[in-house]
Amino acid sequence: MKLGDSIRTIKGIGEKSEELFKKLGITTVEELLAFYPREYDLFTAIQPVSSVREGEMVILEGSFASRPQMALVRNLKIISCKFRDSTGQIFVSWFNMPYLMRSLKMGVRYIIRGRIVRKNGVLQMAQPKILTKEEYVNQTGKLSPVYSLTAGLTNHAVAKAVALALKECEMESDFLPLQIRKEYDLPDRKKAVRMIHFPDSKESYARARRRLVFEEFFLFALALRQLREKKHSVVSPYCLKPQEKTKELLSSLPYSLTSGQKKAWEEICEDLRSGYVMNRLVQGDVGSGKTVLAMLSLLTVAEHGHQGAIMVPTEVLARQHYEEFHKYLEPLGIQVVLLAGSMTAAAKREAYRQIASHEADIIVGTHTLIQEKLAYADLALVVTDEQHRFGVRQREQFSEKGETPHMLVMSATPIPRTLAIILYGDLDVSVIDVLPVGRLPIKNCAVDTNYRPQAYRFMEKQVQQNHQVYIICPMVEESENSEAENVMDYTNTLREVLSPSVRVEYLHGKMKAALKNEIMESFASGEIDILVSTTVIEVGINVPSATVMMIENAERFGLAQLHQLRGRVGRGTAQSYCIFMAGNPSKETMERLRIIEGSNDGFYVAKQDLQLRGPGDLFGIRQSGDLLFALADIYQDAKELQQANEAANSFGEKDILLLCKKHERLRKKMEQYTGEEIII
Ligand code: ADP
Ligand code: MG
Repeated sequence: MKLGDSIRTIKGIGEKSEELFKKLGITTVEELLAFYPREYDLFTAIQPVSSVREGEMVILEGSFASRPQMALVRNLKIISCKFRDSTGQIFVSWFNMPYLMRSLKMGVRYIIRGRIVRKNGVLQMAQPKILTKEEYVNQTGKLSPVYSLTAGLTNHAVAKAVALALKECEMESDFLPLQIRKEYDLPDRKKAVRMIHFPDSKESYARARRRLVFEEFFLFALALRQLREKKHSVVSPYCLKPQEKTKELLSSLPYSLTSGQKKAWEEICEDLRSGYVMNRLVQGDVGSGKTVLAMLSLLTVAEHGHQGAIMVPTEVLARQHYEEFHKYLEPLGIQVVLLAGSMTAAAKREAYRQIASHEADIIVGTHTLIQEKLAYADLALVVTDEQHRFGVRQREQFSEKGETPHMLVMSATPIPRTLAIILYGDLDVSVIDVLPVGRLPIKNCAVDTNYRPQAYRFMEKQVQQNHQVYIICPMVEESENSEAENVMDYTNTLREVLSPSVRVEYLHGKMKAALKNEIMESFASGEIDILVSTTVIEVGINVPSATVMMIENAERFGLAQLHQLRGRVGRGTAQSYCIFMAGNPSKETMERLRIIEGSNDGFYVAKQDLQLRGPGDLFGIRQSGDLLFALADIYQDAKELQQANEAANSFGEKDILLLCKKHERLRKKMEQYTGEEIII
């Protein structure tokens, strides 16, 4: 078996599972091995009943102290009974497992494993698994992988496929040069891949993860270094100075620019007229008003008779930007065109034609803008919004659509300066450090699920005042290995619980683009009151009349991502609220949520979170939902980022090294990474 082989070569994977794996983006053995676990399940030792704490996953040994009782609650068959050891007793409960009524035996010793939750003020164990002595002995101290799943695929099936692939597949030799591995004490790749899936201890997991994180950063840093050299002071054919129309646009806006926006705009203007190609990043917290800077820059290019394009990560956001640009720029005689994946073939053809014939001045779209067959007439500026959602490669492909066009990228990810220099090493940076005036700060609260009924009543009141609500759930649908809330079931429950006049809809990434757009549009126009959604709405969406954001299982998200989500409210003049609902309110979770509850400043939040956890907390969740890296987290792995950058810089000085036989594997990997052949 080779890395490039189809997963069908793995024993047990037939046509049906092939389809399911495909849904997870896995078609080859290599992709399967790079499908790292979402988290790990650690079997701890048996604990006395008296020592359990809320939120913990624990193992108890003892016997049932009362006969199981069955109750019917909202169509669910719930079985409960008491479990006891020599130190105390605790309630345990199961739902929808009626056969336990017969199989549970009194007076027999059991080992049970489950999470401790609080119901009606009392601690109990929910949905425990009964373990055999053997299972307990075999698993204790081990970390078993927990994968992200799709309906129909079990965790066991994924783990089994990975185990077989690890056994059968001939892995190629390590592409990281030996000297670097020695210098930074990194394990061999084969071993690291094995240990990331099936670690035999926390330590070996940490080593494996560090190696894979390092490798991601190393490739990234090498690629960026190549880019920096290529781009240094490139003369631009587009020497542009803002004219009348930009002034008209500024005076037609319902607000004036903040000092931060003004400063960034001046820096952009300087770049545009400098005679050199602009490579600029605008960094500004959510809601700081980055869109208008893109609009001004694009307009400048258009009024000089050239084209400009803006690429965004989701179609929903593309449509929103399109509407906004159209509204302000059409009156100035500028033709704005949308190119979205879900448009009909005829509509797309027409857009292609307008772009190629230069009828289109400004083009708004998703990754559709970098498709091979799309040709621009005269592309002088490319803007990438929410850059953290794109790879460096995509940003470059976009540039290559024109003849050395100016480049503007925008991001809301708050990163410390030292890291920004590495991550955006090829760009000049403008920072918008103030929010528009007149915004009321968002009121936050971090609570546990007991607060839900109150939260629902609060939402109903907000809806009565014509405001709208977002509710975020981590999952799309029910999944075998997750107790987290899911969009589908949550929506159904909500429709039952709330007054029928409240219009509840749902949205998630697996829906068809056209349907997503429709739902987002109805939400924006006020036809939907409550939108239950996954994090698909995280990026950029702007619905100023939405005033409440509630995030279920807030403990599952990094604080940086919670901050991005929160940025969807507080965009209008009305008071906005954000409720962080902890499904598992352990002490650590609540401590972390208190940070975001106490501050609306994304930069401060990210820094505090890091301090609280310390960089050693490897089992923590990722800080941000950024897709740029598969495993690495720029906050948590800041040290590895710096090391990998250092290694790449000293290695890269001898670029020629990449061409010698010894580094052939690295060269191949780099070519795969950047999509470009390395020649000298
Ligand atoms: P982000 O930086 O998150 O992309 P947006 O550009 O979407 O933020 O702007 C958020 C909201 O703030 C929009 O409704 C926009 O119209 C408004 N806005 C932008 N600049 C200003 C300003 N200077 N004063 C008041 N409102 C502004
Ligand atoms: Mg934005």
